[in-house]
Amino acid sequence: MVLNEYVRDIQDFPKPGIGFKDITPLLADPKAVKASIAQLMSTIKDKNIDKVVGIESRGYFLGTILAYELNAGFVPVRKPGKLPYSTIAASYDLEYGQDTLEIHTDAIKEGECVLIHDDVLATGGTASAVCELVEKLGGEIVQCNFLMELSFLNGRDKLSQYNIYAAINY
Ligand code: IMP
Repeated sequence: MVLNEYVRDIQDFPKPGIGFKDITPLLADPKAVKASIAQLMSTIKDKNIDKVVGIESRGYFLGTILAYELNAGFVPVRKPGKLPYSTIAASYDLEYGQDTLEIHTDAIKEGECVLIHDDVLATGGTASAVCELVEKLGGEIVQCNFLMELSFLNGRDKLSQYNIYAAINY
């Protein structure tokens, strides 16, 4: 199955000049979701993962399925002010702007093995901020995986010390 056939290009979203990869057609197709999960699981299924950290909000869709498949807990990283318990925060540059992400202080225990998941790796700013949060809590990052990588934006350069896997490459 060619997964990128299920990803739609939207020009000028969310701002003029931005080409946005829309994964909603893939999410709406159960065979495409199953094939995506199979690919994302292929390099991680034999690793002992305690927690899957999903990045708000498109990292939750497949991130929760990966956590279920890995028999791991799911941890949401969220935009500021959304998590109810005590949090730590990290700020980062996005392809289009700047933002902050938060994680609960008790979400990961010292030494736990972590998979970080998001839909898209673009410049790598988002994922590297999440790596910083996970490591501050004492988590060991086993892999960062993404449904899709926009490799022309060189996001891997910001994540060079981590194992990176993407199911779809552009
Ligand atoms: P980065 O920080 O530049 O790597 O951007 C990655 C973050 O922006 C992820 O959380 C993505 O959800 C989002 N993102 C960037 N470009 C796209 C896109 O084309 N489609 C969907 N999400 C995107």
